[in-house]
Amino acid sequence: MNAKIVVLPGDGIGPEVTAQAVRVLQVVARKGGHSFTFTERLMGGCSIDAHGVALTDEVLADCRASDAVLLGAVGGPKWDDPTAKVRPEQGLLGLRKGLGVFANLRPVRVHPALVESSPVKADRLAGVDILVIRELTGGLYFGQPKGRATRDGVEHAFDTLDYADFEIRRVVELAFRLAKARKRKKVTSVDKANVLESSRLWRQIATATGKANPDVALDHLLVDTASMRLVTSPASLDVIVTENMFGDILTDEASVLAGSMGMLPSASIGEKGPGLYEPIHGSAPDIAGKGIANPVGTILSAALLLRHSLGLEAEAASVERAVDQAITDGCRTGDLGGKLGTKAMADEIVRRLEAGK
Ligand code: NAD
Repeated sequence: MNAKIVVLPGDGIGPEVTAQAVRVLQVVARKGGHSFTFTERLMGGCSIDAHGVALTDEVLADCRASDAVLLGAVGGPKWDDPTAKVRPEQGLLGLRKGLGVFANLRPVRVHPALVESSPVKADRLAGVDILVIRELTGGLYFGQPKGRATRDGVEHAFDTLDYADFEIRRVVELAFRLAKARKRKKVTSVDKANVLESSRLWRQIATATGKANPDVALDHLLVDTASMRLVTSPASLDVIVTENMFGDILTDEASVLAGSMGMLPSASIGEKGPGLYEPIHGSAPDIAGKGIANPVGTILSAALLLRHSLGLEAEAASVERAVDQAITDGCRTGDLGGKLGTKAMADEIVRRLEAGK
């Protein structure tokens, strides 16, 4: 197949890790007889330096015209003034909105060889394989009105948790679709239906979607219970789907299970159009330019790109297998207590990918 991929390396370690993920995609293309073209563009702090904004209209247009976007990370001390009008993360928000990606997918698996790197006890981690799906473009972060007001001489601040039924339905239906392709075929819908009206609508829609998909098991958890379950019995969870802010918090909690931020990928996808793929970590200015960042989160993001935007499931699985084998064989970057640099770690993965089926 032919695919146009826009690469946004960004700032800090972003360029170091995306370069290795592109290498992996090039190997996949060569092995499978595919033709991938890569177009590199500025986004984040580097774009602020060059153009005065974190995301230019031209770059957004290139992304929209692509089949998928691979992103490194943005930000760094140079642009970290919270009062600045122009900030690197505006590029991320502009990209999400501009691409209409309403679901953020974060798979969390704990490799058996890495359980000791996790702060959670090893006996709780056997078999952990969770997909957290966070609604990304609605809910508490976007609801209107929000603001400040003075009432009876008292200052108030308020936010609104607002969902249209279709916004809930499309992300819950996506969760069921993705659950069907997994071994356990289970969806856990997370809400706060004992308190919030928006959660009651969420639960009503999740229940109806569950009835329409009897081959997938559905349960509901309150967000407070879900946050405990993630650390007490994470292996009991399969696909989690939840509101924007609940998901923001739960995805970070879930990521801790895997031991290092450097290991985890993410995908942001919409109804149609290109998806956005990036590791969950930031630009890691403390290690940028040293060639020691773990490239695995970005390489696994490239695997998600193959699966969700290009429909190349076998190729995606082959990349994931190559990463698993490298970890099993003891290949480790510094964040996991090893000595391999970014390129050397990617070399190990590429070698196993080349040798694999
Ligand atoms: P961070 O994820 O960049 O780093 C946190 C810690 O994890 C650091 O010690 C770092 O060295 C380590 N780390 C992260 N990724 C690693 C990797 N691949 N290999 C090895 N070690 C890794 O988070 P932070 O320090 O809070 O933020 C740094 C900058 O990144 C800030 O400007 C922040 O705004 C930005 N940020 C960007 C994104 C994004 O682009 N999506 C996300 C989070 C933070």
